[in-house]
Amino acid sequence: TVETGDNLVAVALEARGAQGLARSSGLSDDLFVHDGQITKRPMRALALSALSPRPGESLWDIGAGSGSISVEWSLCGGTAVAVEARADRAENIQRNAETFGLAHRITVIEGTAPDALAGLAAPDAVFIGGGLDVTLFDVVWSRSATGARLVAHSVTLETETLLTDLHRRHGGELMRVDIAHAAPLGRYRSWEAVRPVVQWSVVR
Ligand code: SAH
Repeated sequence: TVETGDNLVAVALEARGAQGLARSSGLSDDLFVHDGQITKRPMRALALSALSPRPGESLWDIGAGSGSISVEWSLCGGTAVAVEARADRAENIQRNAETFGLAHRITVIEGTAPDALAGLAAPDAVFIGGGLDVTLFDVVWSRSATGARLVAHSVTLETETLLTDLHRRHGGELMRVDIAHAAPLGRYRSWEAVRPVVQWSVVR
């Protein structure tokens, strides 16, 4: 049976004992409904650190997947527009927004960026977790005001090449993150590497 949105967080929290819900970003992945396409906890913490949320600010979360970035942004007192191309994932985002009591702060748009961005108010920050190409970047850049923060993650060489080029043109910080988790290897343990993620963050 599928847990309803209402008790998902409660069930997940109970399973973790008296730990409760942290105030900091980088919440456990199992607090979100997702299909595997979710920015994992350590990278999500780094994304939120770069996005630098403050109360009352607005975020465009492009390629929102499970909406975990929108949720953690909105928990800091802002609002988010979560743009996601896939209907099943847009549903997950809506469910996660409701579970965290953030349905009034997160607007889910099922559609493809950059088309789906038409008509949106200019954001204070933008996170691009999917769909990044030159066209999307140009639209986001031209729609963002001076001072807006832009953070993009890439796991593919193709997007990494684009980010490398954007970093040369616009500056900011380009960072490659290599994470490995200790995992069993026979009677021993070994480092199991996660695919490297490249993060580019820049202030417009
Ligand atoms: N940050 C998300 C994970 C993003 S995975 C999370 O924490 O859950 C990337 C997502 O981008 C996928 O769900 C994919 O469907 C979506 N996507 C890819 N290109 C897109 C586009 N042009 N417009 C909207 N969504 C897109």
